[in-house]
Amino acid sequence: MALPRPLARRLRSARTWIALGVLAPIGMLVVSGLMLLDLRRDAWDKAEQTSKNLLQVIERDIARNVEIIDLSLQAVVDNLRVPGLDTLSPAMRQLVLFDRAGTARDLGVMLVLDEHGDSVLDAGAVPARKLNNADRDYFQAHRADSNLGLHISKPLFSRLTGSRIVVLSRRIDKADGSFGGVVLASLKLDYFSRLFDQIGLGRDGAINLYLRDGTRLMRQPYEEADIGVNIAGAATFRRFVAERSGSFVGTSVRDEVERHYTFSRVGDLPLVLNVALATADIEAGWRAKAVVISAIVLVLCGLTVFLSLLYGRDLRRRSALQAELARMSRTDALTGLPNRRRFDEVSERALKSARRTGKPLSLLLVDADHFKRYNDRHGHAVGDEVLKCIARCLSASVGRPDDLVARVGGEEFVLLLPDTDEEGALRIARKVHDTVASFGLPTAGIGAGTVTVSIGLANDDGSAGAGTDVLYRRADAALYEAKATGRNRTCRAPASGSRRGRDKAAA
Ligand code: GH3
Ligand code: MG
Ligand code: MG
Repeated sequence: MALPRPLARRLRSARTWIALGVLAPIGMLVVSGLMLLDLRRDAWDKAEQTSKNLLQVIERDIARNVEIIDLSLQAVVDNLRVPGLDTLSPAMRQLVLFDRAGTARDLGVMLVLDEHGDSVLDAGAVPARKLNNADRDYFQAHRADSNLGLHISKPLFSRLTGSRIVVLSRRIDKADGSFGGVVLASLKLDYFSRLFDQIGLGRDGAINLYLRDGTRLMRQPYEEADIGVNIAGAATFRRFVAERSGSFVGTSVRDEVERHYTFSRVGDLPLVLNVALATADIEAGWRAKAVVISAIVLVLCGLTVFLSLLYGRDLRRRSALQAELARMSRTDALTGLPNRRRFDEVSERALKSARRTGKPLSLLLVDADHFKRYNDRHGHAVGDEVLKCIARCLSASVGRPDDLVARVGGEEFVLLLPDTDEEGALRIARKVHDTVASFGLPTAGIGAGTVTVSIGLANDDGSAGAGTDVLYRRADAALYEAKATGRNRTCRAPASGSRRGRDKAAA
């Protein structure tokens, strides 16, 4: 299928290809940049969604387990008020007070302490194992505040089992409302570490569980030194507390790693949970893709620029060559004057313009006299030199930019003179005769005045339908007359249609 002409012309232009070579890579860079941004957004969306889901699952698990333990503690508090409990045997009392939750895997001990902190009831032994926990923070907190509800302690080492625990406790009130002791259940920290351990969060990802006061209960990956550390002063923790739930990107006070934190309170408990993914981990997969895509795009862009410039340069060279060929095809090689083809083009246009504007147009047909003799006498090379001299003489005889001097045959030249009437053309013809008469080629033994030319002059008379060929023929006829009547002179062609023929003018 042929391309539309303007498009085909544009495709042949070096500029088009250079512009394409610049614009196409810019387009590619913009598109791939947008694509990479989109991929990055996807990676973040995925990470945010994963964090949110994880947080929800862990939060529910902790909330549910703590609730079950709390229900057991509340049951003990309630059942201690049942009348006649004191009359039961210690074994029966244990059965009544402690339900099966006390035997759960991660539950350490379940105890009732009296108002002095001494253990009086023990879910795991009858009689109760002896200990006094009056010094523990939770005991003192309940003693000081009757409305504390469920209290969750800082991480502790169990005095009975030696394992890491947190203690969940509730206050026991005496009948008169005064402090009657504490019921407690210890939850092994193993519960949290096992829960968190199932989750893979990348190289620098972490899950943290804090008490509301900033004390860390558990962290995954687990490090002993992290447990019990208080980060209440950290900017990240202040946001956890202030916003209750949400997500943000922040830098960890613990290890200076930048992470995306998704956080939430655990139910209504005084616990704060967060899932923290390192931004480097979130973007790791994307980065690898981005490097490969960027490299490919850059190579393609480079290649496009290179090929376009190469092609553009080639086109430019080719069009320069074409212009040179076009110029050469319209130039006479010996004299450097425009040739017959150029004359035909220009004369056609000049005639049209003259007809349109009503201005005169003259044509001088110049032929060297007895030129054959120079060749015969001095050789072809000297003949060439003479032709070049004649060409220079002709060029020197005209002055306007629109005047055209061309070599139309062996020793034949034309002078096309727009906006020049017969008188003006005759003046130019005289100038030609004078200039030619003044040159000589002393080295070849050709003296000044030896070389002469005959000139036929035709003036466009505006005859309808008469083209440049008619004008040329009339000039040629006038030239013939100049030759016939003695050479070295100018003859004018009569207006076409005149029966009188030619009019002779003095050389
Ligand atoms: P006339 O006065 O009647 O015009 O005689 P003439 O000898 O000039 O005319 P003719 O047409 O018989 O001869 C023209 C000569 O011009 C013939 C040819 O050898 C010579 N000629 C044509 N082109 C060139 C050229 O490029 N170089 C040279 N050196 N001679 C040329
Ligand atoms: Mg001739
Ligand atoms: Mg001649």
